[in-house]
Amino acid sequence: MDYDIEADWQLLNTCNYRCDYCFFPGEVLGEKTVLYGTPDEWADAFSATGLTWQLHLTGGEPSAYPDFVDLCAALTRRHVISLNSNLTQTSLADFARRIDPARVSVINAGLHPDERARRRGLEVFNRNLALLHDAGFPIFVSVVATPDVLAAADDIARLPSVPGLVPVPKLLRGSYRGQHYPEAYDEAEREAFRVMSRKARSAYGAWRAARSEPPTIDPFADDDFLAGTPPFRGKTCAAGSRFVRIEPQGDVFRCGSDTAQQGNILTGTFAPHARPSPCNSGYCFYFCRKYTGAEYTSRQVATGVLAGPSLVPPHFVKRLGGALQRVLRR
Ligand code: SF4
Ligand code: SF4
Repeated sequence: MDYDIEADWQLLNTCNYRCDYCFFPGEVLGEKTVLYGTPDEWADAFSATGLTWQLHLTGGEPSAYPDFVDLCAALTRRHVISLNSNLTQTSLADFARRIDPARVSVINAGLHPDERARRRGLEVFNRNLALLHDAGFPIFVSVVATPDVLAAADDIARLPSVPGLVPVPKLLRGSYRGQHYPEAYDEAEREAFRVMSRKARSAYGAWRAARSEPPTIDPFADDDFLAGTPPFRGKTCAAGSRFVRIEPQGDVFRCGSDTAQQGNILTGTFAPHARPSPCNSGYCFYFCRKYTGAEYTSRQVATGVLAGPSLVPPHFVKRLGGALQRVLRR
């Protein structure tokens, strides 16, 4: 799938679950969802940037967004989407019917076993998992590796009912029940994590090999980071040019909440950075790892974004066509 720029788009804050490791407190997860644009307004606004986007829809729970399937249908006319979902919503059946799997780069199905048990949610999870898998969507199951999950790894592995879709363990990060993870894992938990990771890599081996690039949120090698994740501050990063974070109202930021705003998608004021620059923030480990990679930092520009200093907006440059772009780049 070819795209110029990727966005971590927090579509909404709302979620029907209350996982105790969630980054959002309960009052945020319980907020009423606000719609800032119609599906066509959003799709037109992304297209007006002149760029092809890979839009990672997250939340909250993205499939709880009221116009979720219409939005996905509008966005995927020109762009590519990916999705983090707890697979609880009835909208996913409509999604499986109407959305072209070729326009979806990946679905990360979060298992969340404690909430699943509290809310009797396993049946609906497995129903949606089977629907999406059978419809041809690229999908894997992940589970946040709490100490309880690691202690019951074999039982957890049996929860998804689609053969081969075993849960991939995700590192627990940050504060959890008074301890700071991943540093707080003890040696038995680390070993249980490694075993789970190895089984997951084996189960998804062919699926991963067939992909043109790994999923951006890629927990398959999280066992490399059991002692802690590497620091990124100061490293050259393409966030701001090849990657941005978008908030529910369309405001765009390089990544962390302390980065400067780069305009708004809906008002047509989005302005990507011209080139990679040193990391000046803190953000999600997976995006940090991807956009400090040589593939993004050595090749300075996305299609349509000038390599050198430029006063020409990138969406205008893209419309100029190949020959004129080459002249401008000299
Ligand atoms: S399903 Fe995801 S967004 Fe919802 S509470 Fe759990 S971790 Fe948070
Ligand atoms: S916080 Fe991560 S995504 Fe943001 S600039 Fe630093 S390395 Fe890049």
